[in-house]
Amino acid sequence: MINICLLGATGSIGQNALDVLRLHPSKFRLRSITANTDVEGLVAQIAEFEPDTAVIADSSLENKLWERVSSEVPQSKVKILSGQDSLSKVASDEQVHTVVAAIVGAAGLLPTLSAVRAGKRILLANKEVLVCAGKLFMSEVKASGAELLPLDSEHNAIFQCMQQNQLSYEEVEVNKSPDIRRILLTASGGPFRGYNRESLEEVTPEQAFAHPNWEMGRKISVDSATLMNKGLELIEACWLFDVPPSKVEILVHPQSIIHSLVEYDDGSQLAQLGTPDMKTPIAHALGFPERLISGANFLDLTKTPALTFEEADSETFDCLSLAIYAAERGGSYPLFLNAANEVAVQAFIEGKIKITQIADLVKNTLQFATENEPVSIDEVIELDELARKYCLDSLKEIWK
Ligand code: NAD
Ligand code: MG
Repeated sequence: MINICLLGATGSIGQNALDVLRLHPSKFRLRSITANTDVEGLVAQIAEFEPDTAVIADSSLENKLWERVSSEVPQSKVKILSGQDSLSKVASDEQVHTVVAAIVGAAGLLPTLSAVRAGKRILLANKEVLVCAGKLFMSEVKASGAELLPLDSEHNAIFQCMQQNQLSYEEVEVNKSPDIRRILLTASGGPFRGYNRESLEEVTPEQAFAHPNWEMGRKISVDSATLMNKGLELIEACWLFDVPPSKVEILVHPQSIIHSLVEYDDGSQLAQLGTPDMKTPIAHALGFPERLISGANFLDLTKTPALTFEEADSETFDCLSLAIYAAERGGSYPLFLNAANEVAVQAFIEGKIKITQIADLVKNTLQFATENEPVSIDEVIELDELARKYCLDSLKEIWK
């Protein structure tokens, strides 16, 4: 039995992971689940999966969770914990083999790092962790011998296209890169593909949440609508596969059937295809190197609409240009980009700014970034707070 810790269990990735786990009750056991504030979601998961531990990050909700579990799942022996430190605790639990890192945003940094330091197999969905602390994070992965498997559909696809004859992840690492000419990172283009600046200005958060191909959490849905998501993913790919930003190209492919490609020096392009369903990369990483049933629909290419490709419009969607710029500059640029984006996306979701002002806020905040790499996780956290403060200051200017 493989014991799983599911960080961010109540979110979109968390629930997709549970869908896959349901299909393999004799292989995996859910040891721990976590959520930020979703008491309801945790209670339902405790009733169904009987995990040993459940963590609610927001400590003010611990009592409420207790009461709900005692009255609705009285037979449960679940241990209830709360607070940020408890997230790190369950992620490094001795009994846990695999940690699914599916918290959204930089809030996932410390728990994910805790799993890394404990040498776990980590299934990483939480891309912001690599954007805000890529260098330090990857060096901790190497030092601890943790195994990092990408869950983001594009990165999971790239990883699959780099696998040669079922080598282990470490062997793939040793054999990678020199013969790779480019990584082609596919993008659906989001719900506003084809819009110009004027039409983009008028869009509402509800329109941004309605992604044409994927059902996701709110933050990543907005990031997909601004193309910031693709920028974050470019940075994520650079760290995961140890390539410079110049080797990663964005390819808009609205049908989301090809999940990314790797081009080799001999002219071969390898692609991974499938229906757009996160259960496929989740099952791939959960079972790796074994292939598991995922529950995703199988792809029938005779019934698939024609696959089309185009360049990304990084002029209209300037979040993408800002992310590429931050990736090239390095240092604290990606960290500032991510922090400002988190603040700005929240402001957009709350109806305080237009979607086009997300890029304005990120741009203003990037002025304070430097090319110096943060040297410690404490410094990352300090700079992350500073960047959020700069972004909030800039937001107040907009409101004036
Ligand atoms: P979501 O908003 O649906 O879920 C987020 C989860 O994290 C929830 O369980 C929530 O309770 C928890 N959480 C939020 N803030 C927290 C905090 N401060 N402390 C502790 N827990 C907190 O998000 P999602 O769509 O599942 O995305 C999760 C991550 O996976 C993101 O980094 C996203 O970019 C990445 N990702 C998502 C998808 C997708 O299809 N949804 C695809 C690829 C990558
Ligand atoms: Mg993705």
